[in-house]
Amino acid sequence: MGTHQPQASLFAYRVDREQRVRPDHPLRRVAAVVDFSFVREQVAPCYGYNGHVSVDPVVILKLMFLLFYDDVPSERELLSRLGERLDYLWFLGYGLDDPIPDHSVLSKARHRWGREVFERLFVQTVQKCVAAGLVDGHKIHLDSSLVDANASKNSVLKSAPALIDALKAAYGAQEQKLTEPLAAESVNAGPVSTTDPDATVVRSSSGGPRLRYKHHRAVDNAHGVITAVRTTTGRVDEAQQLPSLIEQHTHNTAKAVDTAVADSKYGTVENYRHCQQLGITTHMADLQTKQAGTGRRAAIFPDTGFVYAAVTDTYRCPGGQTLHRHHWNAARRVWQYRTRAGLCAGCALRAQCTRAKDGRSLQRHEDHQLVQQARMQANSAVAKRDRRRRQHLMEGSFADAANNHGFKRARWRRLWRQEIQDWLIAAIQNVRILMAHPLRPVHTTAQAVRALVVLPSAGRCGFRIDERCLWAYEVAAVTRFGVN
Ligand code: SF4
Repeated sequence: MGTHQPQASLFAYRVDREQRVRPDHPLRRVAAVVDFSFVREQVAPCYGYNGHVSVDPVVILKLMFLLFYDDVPSERELLSRLGERLDYLWFLGYGLDDPIPDHSVLSKARHRWGREVFERLFVQTVQKCVAAGLVDGHKIHLDSSLVDANASKNSVLKSAPALIDALKAAYGAQEQKLTEPLAAESVNAGPVSTTDPDATVVRSSSGGPRLRYKHHRAVDNAHGVITAVRTTTGRVDEAQQLPSLIEQHTHNTAKAVDTAVADSKYGTVENYRHCQQLGITTHMADLQTKQAGTGRRAAIFPDTGFVYAAVTDTYRCPGGQTLHRHHWNAARRVWQYRTRAGLCAGCALRAQCTRAKDGRSLQRHEDHQLVQQARMQANSAVAKRDRRRRQHLMEGSFADAANNHGFKRARWRRLWRQEIQDWLIAAIQNVRILMAHPLRPVHTTAQAVRALVVLPSAGRCGFRIDERCLWAYEVAAVTRFGVN
């Protein structure tokens, strides 16, 4: 029976990190899937030519990746754990005796680099998913989620607008002294938080009013890959983010959207019109249908009870009266229709028709046909089935981010930092989808060499091989044989 001597060796010459980290360790797959080296070229202009030599930007980016990948509570904690974790050291390319960087290098790097590095990391993961055949690209699901800001409700200041503006200006000036002038412009129009002026007080169904940001995302229908991400302050209406999410999805995946699936918050006339003009089928629940029969519209005739006559451009109401064009609402792009003055006041059906003092009115959009077509698509059986799928796809995507990567709470303050957090978490979720995808096995070194040497020239020597297969070979070659 042996006894282990806990006394440490004076020198450890035979510690091989390659052997100590198991072959199927998730970080090996991450290293194979994600190319972090792009950051060197991208941030090169941010560094001078003399002074101290910085920590390698690749190492810094990998540290920020680890921060969210394992949902480590803080940067201090991450750096204090680093020396104890052989897998982290292997991932970073550090030896046992390499000095561990100070935690402050991470916040300094964020200021120095800006947001673009993290956006590029996210886009890279989307493109890898496309290359691996995990993105359908034609049907997307949209939703948003509130994220608690890193600031207390007690920091909210309510005062005269002039004083709020002065406070925001003073805050920006103070921040510029400490950091580079990134996003000094505030986006918060109402009462302002003195801790995080970009966050806004929003009430959610699950919690009371709090300072929050809003995260918007588009998820692909095939495997739930996140293809577009946008971060705003909490008070922004999610419906207005639909055009930019569709545009971002198309840019990131190089695939045009055929169908957009979302709940009734996105089912506005403007979104219907926008999608129809782009030829996108709208499977977004109709906001008007949802609101019909509720609030002030409860127990009154729906708009469908009025018959339109194209020849005379008038409506006939259930009481047999005619509604004519009354005036143009430029903001909403609609014509308003009304009966002649006084007719509704004396109508026997008035109680069932309207609660407005000056009688019932109807609105008709300038692109009425497009809006009606969108409504038909939104109420179809296929749309309802898509919305059921959206529920578990989107809720699953948000739940995974919240449970595994600390998505529901902002780590840092200001909108641009929250954008960085959202890009990192979305990138990590995509990487995990890539890793969960079964790879084609590589059994021999010869196959690995063939993957790296022969297959890239497949087009020239007559091979037909799809991108997904080539990617699988490359990943397996790097994972198993350390070829890079
Ligand atoms: S209230 Fe006016 S619009 Fe409604 S049924 Fe009577 S006349 Fe027609």
